Amino acid sequence: MIRFADFSRIVFFTGAGLSVESGIPTYRGKGGLWEEYDYESCACQRAFDADPERVWAFHDVRRGFVANCEPNEGHRIIAHVVQASPSVHSVKVITQNIDGLHQRAGSSGVVELHGSLWRVRCDLCGRCKENLEAPIGDRRCACGAWRRPDIVWFEDLLDPAVLQEAADAIAACDLLVSVGTSGAVSPAADLPRIAVARGAMCVEINPEETPVSGLYQHHLRGPATKMLRELSAS
Ligand code: NAD
Ligand code: ZN
Repeated sequence: MIRFADFSRIVFFTGAGLSVESGIPTYRGKGGLWEEYDYESCACQRAFDADPERVWAFHDVRRGFVANCEPNEGHRIIAHVVQASPSVHSVKVITQNIDGLHQRAGSSGVVELHGSLWRVRCDLCGRCKENLEAPIGDRRCACGAWRRPDIVWFEDLLDPAVLQEAADAIAACDLLVSVGTSGAVSPAADLPRIAVARGAMCVEINPEETPVSGLYQHHLRGPATKMLRELSAS
């Protein structure tokens, strides 16, 4: 039986499945966001350059929706592992989610591989800051250019510094718990391979088998909250 209490440096590698029980749909699969919207017209730089108002309208709807969702028990268990298990020395959360629910549950130092719905940036002058408005009040930066969500859109590259921070944390962990990720989005999907190569224990939480299930020694097939509760049992 795997228990958090038997490890000292834990990395949680999380994806859209963790927020499903908060009411936030995944992108892919049944009921997924991309069944309803077309990313090429609302979530890539080309779409933004062609029609920023339209892309902002889409993101304002997403902000409003996510603002009304709450972190679930899974987010909270992850945020409180260190207090709950004194033998655990450190916990690092590496997420592909952009919803900010880890932070709202109390996690700090979260590595957001794909950016955040709650930050905006200006690619002309470089200003980047938190903005929790839904809808956002001012779509223009002080310099006059358009602000854009600080999200890694389709066709965008990941920030190399963020990727490095994730890789370093994974290289140093003795337990990697992947929660609710399909393993379909690279380069994020390749990160767990570092833990495998270092000999860390690797656990996959997902109700379904994924293309990367073979990487993990242990599979917990069920919803994130229930499976995280099992791992936190002492
Ligand atoms: P994905 O949509 O590709 O896969 C989600 C995975 O979650 C699936 O494998 C599914 O079987 C699993 N799942 C479904 N319900 C679950 C549950 N209750 N408990 C545990 N697992 C469950 O998601 P991804 O791998 O994170 O990659 C998609 C991309 O979509 C990322 O880039 C991410 O930025 C983005 N995204 C983010 C959010 C969010 O911020 N909440 C939501 C949708 C998509
Ligand atoms: Zn600016």
